[in-house]
Amino acid sequence: MQPEIVKSPEPEPAYRPSWDVYFLKLAMLASERATCPRMHCGCVLVNERHVVSTGYNGSLPGSEHCYNAGCIMVDNHCVRTNHAEINAICQAALHGLSLKGASAYVTNMPCTSCAKALIAAGVKRVIVFSDYHNSLAERFFDEAGVKLERLPMPERSIHYELHKFSSAKPFPEEKAGTEAAKER
Ligand SMILES: [Zn+2]
Ligand SMILES: [Zn+2]
Repeated sequence: MQPEIVKSPEPEPAYRPSWDVYFLKLAMLASERATCPRMHCGCVLVNERHVVSTGYNGSLPGSEHCYNAGCIMVDNHCVRTNHAEINAICQAALHGLSLKGASAYVTNMPCTSCAKALIAAGVKRVIVFSDYHNSLAERFFDEAGVKLERLPMPERSIHYELHKFSSAKPFPEEKAGTEAAKER
């Protein structure tokens, strides 16, 4: 049987993201799980277009969140959470995944400590769309030969038009939402 080639009635959508925008948007999505009101940061570590790990600034597993228990302030910084980059590096370590030669997509310029941790973990390229106060990241990246790229902030929307996809079938209303994730 000869398959039939059916041409798309529409051109490829203009919103289809580049790889860099795709991973930056994933970092923005990760930041939505941040647990401290003072900062929402997301980090996605990528090797050869493969997501190795993701992280957001959040409390240690099983610990109270700043939103519930309050921030633990030292020198005007909240120290209850690990930063997104550290959490992403720790996730990779926990699962035995190498970050040698990886790229880090971060919602903002890493702080000095995170910059040094990314360098030490083998990250070679860092992509951000906003800055961070008092960071010496750039200086350390320069010194280590890590490429830093500042891209525009991606648009804050996800395009998924279920009703437009001819092969998709929405759930009947009574099934949708019954398995809503309860784990926080
Ligand atoms: Zn906090
Ligand atoms: Zn940091």
